[in-house]
Amino acid sequence: MQDEQLLRYSRQIMLPEFDYHGQQALLDARVLIVGVGGLGSPVALYLAAAGVGHLVLVDDDVVDFSNLQRQVAHDEGSIDVPKVQSAAKRISQLNSDIKVSCLAERLAGDAMLEQVALADVVVDCTDNQITRSSLNKACWQSKTPLVSGAAIRFEGQLSVFDPRQDNTPCYACLHHHTADRDVTCAANGVISPIVGVIGTMQALETIKLLAGVGEVAVGKLLMFDGLAGQWRSFGLPKLPQCQVCGGME
Ligand SMILES: [Zn+2]
Repeated sequence: MQDEQLLRYSRQIMLPEFDYHGQQALLDARVLIVGVGGLGSPVALYLAAAGVGHLVLVDDDVVDFSNLQRQVAHDEGSIDVPKVQSAAKRISQLNSDIKVSCLAERLAGDAMLEQVALADVVVDCTDNQITRSSLNKACWQSKTPLVSGAAIRFEGQLSVFDPRQDNTPCYACLHHHTADRDVTCAANGVISPIVGVIGTMQALETIKLLAGVGEVAVGKLLMFDGLAGQWRSFGLPKLPQCQVCGGME
């Protein structure tokens, strides 16, 4: 690590459980962020600021005026600009020390599997079930940890799925219990800071996974009720009949 990096990241390096090795792990890491909207904005900005060495941003959408209420990586000058390009510009102003790759496409099939396999952690910041389910399958296939978040109205939820650990559930195990819901902010609304609360937690869980510190939310579903100002934690069982994580074995 260079002197400038030691200075830039000094407030993290001084944490005894994180230390020099934690920072080096972040600098060496490649993180795939799928969706650069409400959740993806704080995830990308905090991981960039914290010094994750290589961020791969995926989003096929352009910035819309109605996005600015919550998607804080973008600004008024970014209307109609691809979200990956707008976020990459902001990140380069925040931290020119890290590498950013942009994929302005809807990732699917072999291209998705390839990107997931290259990543140390995948952060799911999308709002549609098809992409969520295929990301989950790709993560399980390549044994890549997945940090999943969702936000709607005044509520949010978060969970980490880690295929490297035995007997842990996957996103499909969770989705089985909530199968009736394909809810989007466009149809249901969301209060601005909720995506910040959940996205920031996703960034934190990602850093913990990369640096190997603390207790990651594997096998747990954390739910935030913004109106009550309360977090709740639920145990998330592995489904014996799950077709993705194969709980039968
Ligand atoms: Zn499963």
